[in-house]
Amino acid sequence: MATLDLFSSEPAQPDSAAHQRVQALREWLHAYGHAYYVLDAPVVPDAEYDRLFQELQALETAHPEWLTPDSPTQRVGGKPLDAFATVRHVVPMLSIRTETDTESTGAEAFDARVRKELELDAGDAPVEYVAELKFDGLAMSLRYEQGVLVQAATRGDGEYGEDVTQNIRTIGQIPLKLPAGVPAVLEVRGEVYMRRDDFEAMNEKQREKGEKTFVNPRNAAAGAVRQLDPGIAAQRPLSFFAYGLGEVTPTEQGGPAFSTHYAMLQTLKSWGFPVAAQVDIARGAPELIAYHQRIGAARDQLPYDIDGVVYKVNSLALQRQLGFITREPRWAVAHKYPAQEQITKVLGIDVQVGRTGKLTPVARLDPVFVGGTTVSNATLHNLFELRRKRVRVGDRAIVRRAGDVIPEVVGIVVATRPAYVPNFRMPRSCPICGSAVVREKTEMNHRCSGGLFCPAQRKQAILHYAQRRAVEVEGLGEKLVDQLVESNTIRTLPDLYKLGLSTLAALDRMAEKSAQNIVAALEKSKQTTLPRFLFGLGIRHVGEATAKELVRHFGTLDAIMDASEEALTGVSDVGPIVAKSLHTFFAQPHNREVVEQLRACGVTWPEGAPADAGPKPLAGKTLVLTGTLPTLGRDAAKDLIEAAGGKVSGSVSKKTHYVVAGAEAGSKLDKAQELGVPVLDEAGLLELLK
Ligand code: NAD
Repeated sequence: MATLDLFSSEPAQPDSAAHQRVQALREWLHAYGHAYYVLDAPVVPDAEYDRLFQELQALETAHPEWLTPDSPTQRVGGKPLDAFATVRHVVPMLSIRTETDTESTGAEAFDARVRKELELDAGDAPVEYVAELKFDGLAMSLRYEQGVLVQAATRGDGEYGEDVTQNIRTIGQIPLKLPAGVPAVLEVRGEVYMRRDDFEAMNEKQREKGEKTFVNPRNAAAGAVRQLDPGIAAQRPLSFFAYGLGEVTPTEQGGPAFSTHYAMLQTLKSWGFPVAAQVDIARGAPELIAYHQRIGAARDQLPYDIDGVVYKVNSLALQRQLGFITREPRWAVAHKYPAQEQITKVLGIDVQVGRTGKLTPVARLDPVFVGGTTVSNATLHNLFELRRKRVRVGDRAIVRRAGDVIPEVVGIVVATRPAYVPNFRMPRSCPICGSAVVREKTEMNHRCSGGLFCPAQRKQAILHYAQRRAVEVEGLGEKLVDQLVESNTIRTLPDLYKLGLSTLAALDRMAEKSAQNIVAALEKSKQTTLPRFLFGLGIRHVGEATAKELVRHFGTLDAIMDASEEALTGVSDVGPIVAKSLHTFFAQPHNREVVEQLRACGVTWPEGAPADAGPKPLAGKTLVLTGTLPTLGRDAAKDLIEAAGGKVSGSVSKKTHYVVAGAEAGSKLDKAQELGVPVLDEAGLLELLK
């Protein structure tokens, strides 16, 4: 396969050259089909396969004398794997003819063919079709006997499929037992697929573990269905849609008597099978075209991949009249949408810094039309993923863009790389701010350690600092921070305290009164506590609880900033990962500078000896807060209780020592009374704290 030229698109030559081309196309299509159908590991995108397939079809139409029964154009799917028991399909599972134009001609050509076969004149009524989604998964035949699922089989080569019953039983959407009254023998045909969010989540987990990711939901679903270990298949989130029937007890023996495909789908739904809501009746080509456009516009919002829509003649009597040709029915056609995977060249590999400081290698691409838009950048996720996929500059990469998921490089086309391309390396310093790049041993991602200084992380850093649980700047929300950062008004946290009334009032949709409120909130935020300030700095792995522990242990910010990694691990709650993160953070001069500037702006907190040294009137006591206290906010009350050694719990039990109740206290107060737990008001709490 390494020597195949995938990009040659010269027109077929006459005579022997054309014949050679036919043979070459068959060889490629056989190889690609085997990788796709049998191994579930495609080596080229579908668009590439379809292009070669259609070229072969065109050559065979021009030269029918060259047609052979083993040509890929004459066969369905691939041979079943020996590892599974073989199932013979009494009613064959066929393919569907594909139209790939994105305009209207596909629907018009199909309607014209149907009308011609049915010998309809221009004056005859339009043909009625059912228009459906073409799910991008794999076909499945579910056999029910006396209403019980007895067998599930893949399509295989159309006549013989694989028995995958064990794996299919694990799909929650597939009924194992049907309601009374269904035909004694019933084969339901449909598509097993994986939702995009399930696929993304599954791949994210694989990436976190540094394990192989799946190329797309279709291959992930096919791999799961044909998994030899049903335990593994059960962990893969699969879904199902029904769209047809195979063998069914004949009507004369008590089987169902449908006259239309649409009625059949509605019945399947009533028996408990998932049927897509988008199934619709369309009369004539214009309504098919309208359906194709409507679904095309909604495609990105669907939670699963579709590669097109399918048109089927609605009347079952007309379907029988139209019949089949070798591998496909004459009464159905698939009208595809632009492919979601394409091949293009990697021009370079850049590094982007995300708002959490994560460094992501991104492939700069020769622009390519994929999934309906032109894509010129695609994520490579992280260094390990990039290495596993063996992506280098100059490679021909397979790029996927589906739904609103960001475009990604899913693989490369093997052996098309120029010689001697150096391996990509992650930069040692952040390409945006120059701070050190770090990676924890247990993590796959590299990160910029310039948390407070790095412009890429500014918005996130400011929102984190200003949140209620940190230093709290009331009214400083996402939209305002966006404006302040985008207009470069705020570059680092201390710039917040330089914001004047006039700057704020000049911002979009900012009334004078709101600007005054923000200025007042900023002023108020300057009086804080050290744990809140430390948490507000947004140091990775340093949450509220850890910040409190650190302050309890060290007492002052300077002591924390200067502590060695070893000293940090001495704090309860602080393991080596947290210690390293803290140490790296304060080792960055940029970050220290930001802290100093914040102090210079007037941000203060009561500092002193380690808090452990102070009196602990509430040591060992658990308190519950409920209702609104007259002066203390919920967080302030919590801070005070914790500083006095107490614990704040969310629910009242026999182990609760006190319930502190304010106005409009709810069920927690009732519970306290019921259990006989002492109830205090704010004054009572302050008394206890003395
Ligand atoms: P097909 O997938 O184009 O059409 C038939 C299949 O459509 C059915 O078997 C069924 O599984 C599915 N389908 C989805 N929704 C349906 C609906 N509502 N009604 C009926 N059927 C529905 O045909 P095919 O013969 O399986 O194979 C061709 C496809 O496989 C092409 O998309 C091709 O690109 C891809 N392929 C890709 C490679 C590769 O290397 N990338 C290799 C071989 C095939």
